[in-house]
Amino acid sequence: MRATTFLLFIVGLLITLFACRHKPVTQTTHLKKEWADTIFIQPFYPVTDVFAQIASRELHDFYGSPIVILPTIKIYEKAHSATGRYSAPILLNCLSDLPRAKGYKILGLASFDIFTESRGVKEWGIFGLGNCPGNACVVSDFRLKQFKGKTEAFTINVIIHEIGHNFGLPHCDKDEKCLMNDAKGTIATLYKEQKWLCPYCTNKLAVIRAETIREKLTAWLD
Ligand SMILES: [Zn+2]
Ligand SMILES: [Zn+2]
Repeated sequence: MRATTFLLFIVGLLITLFACRHKPVTQTTHLKKEWADTIFIQPFYPVTDVFAQIASRELHDFYGSPIVILPTIKIYEKAHSATGRYSAPILLNCLSDLPRAKGYKILGLASFDIFTESRGVKEWGIFGLGNCPGNACVVSDFRLKQFKGKTEAFTINVIIHEIGHNFGLPHCDKDEKCLMNDAKGTIATLYKEQKWLCPYCTNKLAVIRAETIREKLTAWLD
């Protein structure tokens, strides 16, 4: 008798657990997902899981956005130049086309040397590049590895800077500590910047995010 009662208890527990794990998707959760400025992280081999996890945590702490880390993939060969570097604009196009990240932001994390055309130089080596505004950016720690003891902090600042561009923040010259300063190809900027946005950029970001929510709400009500 006690065994039967126990069996019934276990069956009841399993049914409860099963029911809890298969909650129907409500309209509310659907809306939240649509409004959220989710950021996908696409690590390119051989970027480590640890690096992706650190980037995820830092982005979430800074912007409060939901973060999704995608499985690591090989870097896109079509971005490979004859000099062995990778074209950041081509990487951005490839990332933008990823079906899973459509409508969201996506950060490519690389450890290869990346470049863009700048200052009359076809392959100008960079730390990162992001569309402004846009849905894709790419960051590499290749050129930041020379700053022993600072590599991780600098890379995180570049990541937050490029995602800032994706949100629509342009370069800032209001405060040299602001993360949205233009590096202008110098390392001095990296040392001056803090993991911080000046009041001007903070307000601008708040306006942009409020406007994004308003647009999505308007589109949903139409
Ligand atoms: Zn920039
Ligand atoms: Zn600023």
